[in-house]
Amino acid sequence: MRFETAVVHAGQSPDPAYGAVMPPIYQVSTFAFKGVGEPGPFDYSRSGNPTRKALEDCLAALEGGVRGFAFGTGMAAEATALSLLGAGDHLIVHNDLYGGTYRIVTQWTARQGVAVDFVDLRDLDALQKALRPNTKLVWTETPTNPMMNLLDLRAIAEACMAHGALTICDNTFLSPYFQRPLDLGIDIVLHSTTKYINGHSDVVGGALVAKDAAVAERIGYWQNCLGTCQAPFDCFLVLRGLKTLPLRMEAHNRNALAVARWLEAHPKILRVNHPGLESHPQRELAIRQMTGFGGTFSFRVKGGGDAALRMLANVKLFILAESLGGVESLIEHPWTMTHISMPPEARAAAGIAEDMIRISVGIEHVDDLIEDLEQALAIC
Ligand SMILES: *Cc1c(COP(=O)(O)O)cnc(C)c1O
Repeated sequence: MRFETAVVHAGQSPDPAYGAVMPPIYQVSTFAFKGVGEPGPFDYSRSGNPTRKALEDCLAALEGGVRGFAFGTGMAAEATALSLLGAGDHLIVHNDLYGGTYRIVTQWTARQGVAVDFVDLRDLDALQKALRPNTKLVWTETPTNPMMNLLDLRAIAEACMAHGALTICDNTFLSPYFQRPLDLGIDIVLHSTTKYINGHSDVVGGALVAKDAAVAERIGYWQNCLGTCQAPFDCFLVLRGLKTLPLRMEAHNRNALAVARWLEAHPKILRVNHPGLESHPQRELAIRQMTGFGGTFSFRVKGGGDAALRMLANVKLFILAESLGGVESLIEHPWTMTHISMPPEARAAAGIAEDMIRISVGIEHVDDLIEDLEQALAIC
């Protein structure tokens, strides 16, 4: 099945009971046994649920993995993946990534007795130097949030495979429509399905997809043990959103590139971080590794943090909110909003400036979006 067909059909067939075309919401906690010692395909919804399975199978097909897992939030997916590590293990994390990932690995994983190192994984020599005999997992995110820097997934996967360390890639920003990390050698893909996968800003969720059965087995064990799974109703919503992923991603990509080009030519803009622009230092890697650029990027305004705050106060159509990947356009200030859980030094080291603004470009008419930014910049 091609991607556009798989989003509609993978993991789903008419319901065996009544032929319902969409997987019904199996809003149940428990399932009847046929007899003692004879459970059916499902016994208890924490361990498995038909609505969740439809979503999990669809996600596995879209990422090209053996098995998918749906979680209550992206952070629940992260906590479950991090459960693969124990005391004495070493974790390498890219030094420029989602603020919540920084928080969970520093505040929680480090407390489990796992040694954590932050490394700039754009530098493959730095990765080689950081790998230790006990390195069990290398955590990547590309494009990074909010800098839009890229990591060479194939090169990182090869280095880690040679070393016997697993790799994980947070693929939230692009979705499998624009980037398939497992095809590049990565072992596990992670999503906050809250973002593009669901795409309608009406549910929080997360996902993991594993490339091989042994890793999938371990993830399944921890999903059941921790109870981090997603509820049936939320799985139904994510599955419904997922059906239009290719259509939405094309619209996000087209609008975001047009807005980025317009901003780059504006006299009040200092710089635009968008991997589709000729000015992006890793544009060649973007074209090699991704089939599109997504809808989220950042830029810096002239005039410092105050000018950025004035712009944020003056937008009318763009909604001032955290999150990204929904059909509506959002705007935010990483320094005081999404990345506040990183200490100021860590923010500065990652290149996050007070004059930086991140936007998630929605699927509205691009002229309305540009007009809104134009009037907001005129005032600031
Ligand atoms: C939002 C996000 C997360 C966390 O997901 P939640 O659904 O908010 O728990 C993780 N990674 C990235 C890149 C995100 O944007």
